[in-house]
Amino acid sequence: MNATEKLNFLIQDKNLDAELKHIAEKVLQGERVSFEEGVILYERGELGYLGVLANYIREKKHGDYTYFNRNFHIEPTNVCVYDCKFCAYSRLIKEREQGWEMDVAGMMEVIKKYDDEPVTEVHITGGVVPKQNLDFYADFFRQCKAHRPDLHIKGLTPVEYYYIFKKAKMSHYDGLKYLQECGLDSMPGGGAEIFHPEIREKIAGDKCTAEQWLDIHEQAHSLGMRTNATMLYGHIEAFWHRVDHMERLRQLQDKTGGFQAFIPLKFRNQGHQMSHVPEVSVVEDLRNYAIARIYMDNFDHIKAYWAMISRDTAQLSLAFGVDDIDGTLDDTTKIYSMAGAEEQHPALSTQQLVELIKQVGRHPIERDTLYKIVTDYKDVVFDDGNKPNYYSLPVVE
Ligand code: SF4
Repeated sequence: MNATEKLNFLIQDKNLDAELKHIAEKVLQGERVSFEEGVILYERGELGYLGVLANYIREKKHGDYTYFNRNFHIEPTNVCVYDCKFCAYSRLIKEREQGWEMDVAGMMEVIKKYDDEPVTEVHITGGVVPKQNLDFYADFFRQCKAHRPDLHIKGLTPVEYYYIFKKAKMSHYDGLKYLQECGLDSMPGGGAEIFHPEIREKIAGDKCTAEQWLDIHEQAHSLGMRTNATMLYGHIEAFWHRVDHMERLRQLQDKTGGFQAFIPLKFRNQGHQMSHVPEVSVVEDLRNYAIARIYMDNFDHIKAYWAMISRDTAQLSLAFGVDDIDGTLDDTTKIYSMAGAEEQHPALSTQQLVELIKQVGRHPIERDTLYKIVTDYKDVVFDDGNKPNYYSLPVVE
């Protein structure tokens, strides 16, 4: 049975709860699921049911295509003026000798390490410190573009920007416009956590508010920048807080259309002030991906960070609405490993990513940051050695 036949079969099930049946019919008709229905999905939707709905939408949007990219991260510092309770990664200013703080020259050294590598994106995010201010990033973005103009800079979240622009006495719009002129291309989705103040104040009370986070994305969209959005789930929030979070994003997306991917981030519980809170199960991870796919009808992509949820769960997620599993990473991020993720040195070669996707019957596509196809790997057979032959592959636009 294909995805449509499975959904039709499900709808005909006489034992299906009437409200779940109504939601399934709406999905088949391409209609939007309401806030109340989002909560019903969390409360009553079992995994098999949610998988059928989410996979129907996923295949309608993308077929079997499953995206990844070749990227690396720069985390300029893990010292931070903020004190988010779930953060295992950062060190307070008073403990700064336990952390790291890079200068522009050090960051350029990292960029230069990839000179001969066919990476397409550098993803930059980290803590917030006064020294890494507007001039610091303007200088770095300029140097980076002068050195390698084709490398896409996906840099910083509203958490960093809110602090930087406030210190520089600039509006969100003017600050972003200036950094865009210096070379910034797009924005990742971090720092969103859970928007509702009931939860946000408890877990991340001292950083930017939901309204400030959303405004910075809105201003970026108005400048033509594409951005992503995340949600940190599975800690002290209730289901309706998750729906509230997605609803706020869905409304902004209706207005601007500037978001590309929605990325649910699993709460991991090692090494921070919320370590007493248990992690949710893999079943809940998959249910959450599926509901995100169903609810976020105006987002093109649902992304799972394989480095955060492990390779096995990333493979499973491809049957529950996910169409993107992020990039090669090359062991350049510590955010997930320091919070207790299974992947302690996250790095996958292109070949490994392609095989991971093919093993579950999907069609691997290397994309750039803006989802332009770089290479279609459906029929690519790698050399028998471990190294894929990057340079002889066709580039498909
Ligand atoms: S989550 Fe980000 S803003 Fe919060 S303490 Fe960690 S590095 Fe700082």
